[in-house]
Amino acid sequence: MKEIKRYAGVDFFRIPAAALVVAIHTSPLASFDAGADFFLTRVLARIAVPFFFMVTGQFVVSGLWDMQTGRVMRYVKKTALLYGIAMLLYLPAGIYAGHYQELTFADVLRMLVFDGTFYHLWYFPACITGICLLYLLSRFLNKKQVFAAAVLLYIIGLGGDSYYGLAKQVPFFADFYETCFSVCSYTRNGIFMAPLFFMLGVLADEHIPDDRRILWAGLCVSFPAMTEEAYLLRAFRLQRHDSMYVLLPVVMFFLYRLLRGRQIKGIAYVVPVSTRIYILHPAMILVVRAAAKVTKFTILTENSLVHYAAVLLLSAAVSLLPVIIRKRTGQMQKASAFGARAWLEVDHAALGHNVKMLQEMLPQSCKLMPAVKADAYGHGAVLVAKELQKAGVDAFCVACAAEGVRLRRQGIRGLILVLDYTHPQQFPLLVRYKLTQTVVDDVYAERLNRYGKTIHVHIGIDTGMHRIGVRSEHMEQILHICQMRNLSVDGLFTHLCTSDVMTERFVNYTVAQAQAFYHVVEQMQAHGYACPALHMQASYGVLNYPELAGDYARVGIALYGVLSTKEDTEQWSNCLKPVLSLKARIASVRTLYQGESAGYGIQYTAERDMRIATLSVGYADGLPRALSCGVGSVLIHGCLAPVIGRICMDQMTVDISGISNVRAGEEAVLIGRCGDLEISVCDVAKQAGTITNEILSRMGARLERVRI
Ligand SMILES: *Cc1c(COP(=O)(O)O)cnc(C)c1O
Repeated sequence: MKEIKRYAGVDFFRIPAAALVVAIHTSPLASFDAGADFFLTRVLARIAVPFFFMVTGQFVVSGLWDMQTGRVMRYVKKTALLYGIAMLLYLPAGIYAGHYQELTFADVLRMLVFDGTFYHLWYFPACITGICLLYLLSRFLNKKQVFAAAVLLYIIGLGGDSYYGLAKQVPFFADFYETCFSVCSYTRNGIFMAPLFFMLGVLADEHIPDDRRILWAGLCVSFPAMTEEAYLLRAFRLQRHDSMYVLLPVVMFFLYRLLRGRQIKGIAYVVPVSTRIYILHPAMILVVRAAAKVTKFTILTENSLVHYAAVLLLSAAVSLLPVIIRKRTGQMQKASAFGARAWLEVDHAALGHNVKMLQEMLPQSCKLMPAVKADAYGHGAVLVAKELQKAGVDAFCVACAAEGVRLRRQGIRGLILVLDYTHPQQFPLLVRYKLTQTVVDDVYAERLNRYGKTIHVHIGIDTGMHRIGVRSEHMEQILHICQMRNLSVDGLFTHLCTSDVMTERFVNYTVAQAQAFYHVVEQMQAHGYACPALHMQASYGVLNYPELAGDYARVGIALYGVLSTKEDTEQWSNCLKPVLSLKARIASVRTLYQGESAGYGIQYTAERDMRIATLSVGYADGLPRALSCGVGSVLIHGCLAPVIGRICMDQMTVDISGISNVRAGEEAVLIGRCGDLEISVCDVAKQAGTITNEILSRMGARLERVRI
């Protein structure tokens, strides 16, 4: 089950962007009209490289502020390697062209660090120096200040690029750029140009309202204006080079935001292809020229458009070669996705059904806030949250900030409440990804407030579970938290700890919890505070105490179609449908002869000759080891096959004596239906002496998930 990329529009645009870079280096329209060629290669095509910088900014450089410096450094290393390979590739061409004659040490340094050893290769050192520069700046400045610094550098860069004619009028600037150009040949490099576009990419994830009409209007105004700027500069002969315009960052801002919103499927392969086109196209220019000479097919070089098309097609073909080769072997890979050794099947129809049922149990005013923590109880958080979002759910709860960040990055909108403690070092994530944090107690509220930026919170109220929350009787603490400058108190909640059992003692306890909670709410209102969103119920709260509905219900286990115990699940089985099945492949079928023992600790001995099957699934996949030695069973061909011996980390054996024609490669059902039989997660939980919540939440670290 592949996840759809949210930024597919961005990925898609890599191909036209790469084609534009090729155009810069081949001047497709030169044979026809110099003005048109100027527009294509010096105006339109100038969006290509900034676009690539912005992609890197958004997906890599942003790590500098996300505590993912490792990701950034890996990218720098990868780029350096790519640069090294490209240098070697173009070494012969460079030597042939006489680029490397009579080089001084300073020349070599300039080439390596700024200009690139072959004309288009400047992009790679620009990425590296640009990122290193931003890394340094980010140690001392916050994101906005770094952005301001990048703008300043860009302005300086403009003076050495398109506006050189103006800048050199001022003697001071003339001297300055003179010195600059003794170090690097252009200002379109990693110091003056790349940082701004990296930062625009970093800021692309900020939640600026995206109204597509405004974005289109912005692009439709800024691009013609930039064109005008370019033609004016050309008319007055002010340009020394033409990579940087005043309006280029503005155009890129609108363009990039528009691309982000587009969804296009099945284009994951374009990412490496566009890079390969970028690196390879100058080599293809040489190949096309050589081919034209050898074959005397001179139109290939004489007609600029034909030349461009030939270079582009050849570059694309060579770049696609690995994809094509992989596609052929990929047929096999695809088969093996369904040929997984062990996998989870997630029934989205059942999930939709459960959502509807739970919504019907609650009043209209109470919305679901599904618990998608622990990878949505093993079901796959991103997939489940996307499905729920499609069904209109717009609030979620997770255990930790990292889970929330993952959902945001995959395009989940709305409220995401972090139920557990978040370390102060991760407070930036709360702000950046608009996560709502639980106030776990009064001391923690102070920490959150001291961070200095507005953090959205729901205050946990401890009404009797004594796990987290401010004690409900400590009204002064609660009011104090409400007054904190940097906290936006959006909600108030408590957690019921006996709502699953309807005996007198437990019902009384729940009622007391609810009363304590309502008392807090009344006092808050009495002190003049507006009532924030309220929520008390988890799954059992919804089922057993629908009258306690607030603004949200934090449903977890019930959403996945089961309850914690087998008895409860059976009681509610006509309104909830289980969502998850666990299946595994039969690895081997063999005979165990009478008297032979099997498995670790030889815990099982055959009383007579028997057939056994080994399954490719073990406790590392989430199946409890407590099911060993006949406690658990699996379903094969619709029949029950008991576990024999001890379950291993990756494998287990079952008795298939009573089942005919079992073959390796067939599937066994560990949780779910097969024929007329069903093993539910409740059975597994009962056999393992625990609740379904534990079994499900441990499921799947190594399993593929298949949507059905
Ligand atoms: C996990 C959790 C839930 C969901 O509980 P279920 O019993 O699975 O519905 C609700 N609230 C809090 C605070 C939780 O930690």
